[in-house]
Formats: sequence, C-alpha cells, structure tokens
Amino acid sequence: MKKERVSPWNPSRRATERVKNPLPAPTTCNCCGKDTVELQHHDQLYGRSYGNWPYVYRCTSCHAYVGLHPFTSIPLGTLADQATREARKRCKPPFEDLHRSGRMSRNEAYAKLAAKLQIPVAECHFGWFDAAMCERARQAAIELGGT
Ligand SMILES: [Zn+2]
Repeated sequence: MKKERVSPWNPSRRATERVKNPLPAPTTCNCCGKDTVELQHHDQLYGRSYGNWPYVYRCTSCHAYVGLHPFTSIPLGTLADQATREARKRCKPPFEDLHRSGRMSRNEAYAKLAAKLQIPVAECHFGWFDAAMCERARQAAIELGGT
C-alpha cells in the first residue's frame, strides 16, 4: 500500500499526541457565529505557502483564521480577526521573556501567568485569548518581570 502524504486530512499520530489541551477542529466561527469554517491551504489565503505546515482554519464569511499545530489537524487556538491576531503577536513577548531568559521554565511561566489572570492553566494560551485578554496577559507578564 502506498504511504499517504501527511496532511491535516492525514495527520501525524505522534505530533497529534504531543499537543496538550487540543481544541477540536472548528466548524462554527467564534468571531461571527456562522458555520462557515473551512480547512484551507495557505495558497487559498496568501497565494503562497509559509513554513512547513501551510494550513489554516478560515471562516469564509468574516475571514477570521487560525493556524494549525505542525503535522496535525489541531488548531493553534480560536479563530482570530486581524485585531486579535495583532494583539496575540504584540502581547506575547513579555511572557516569552519570562522563560527564555532562564528565570523560570515554560511550565512555571504558564502557571504564574494563569494564576495572575485567575484562569485554569489548561486555558492559558495566547492562541485562545481575545484582544482584551491578550492585553491583560501582557500586563501580567510585565508584572512578573518579563520585558
Ligand atoms: Zn466568521
């Protein structure tokens, strides 16, 4: 039997098992509420591919989208409009600094951030946050010493 190429329609089992707290593949858009979410290749979104896992879940109504964990069909978070995507990017560096600086492990950093935000650590992912929560997380990470 010919080995099928790995794709979100034929994901890597090992990569899938490694993802903690996987979200289900979205069908309903969390931005506009319509059932118009499709799994698309980057070619359909950007006209070219970026990285080695060029796929997104994208709402064909409001055009919110989110990437996938590499070699899986698992979304990185909730679908995001442009403002949310920008907030996620802008607000993450102070948090990344907490563990990249070696002051604490990545798990410790998530535990402290979750405690500050008063949310379960399993729900503490920038990819799951809306723009307002991203801003709260940025402030919290700065208070924890991140820059
Ligand atoms: Zn939508």
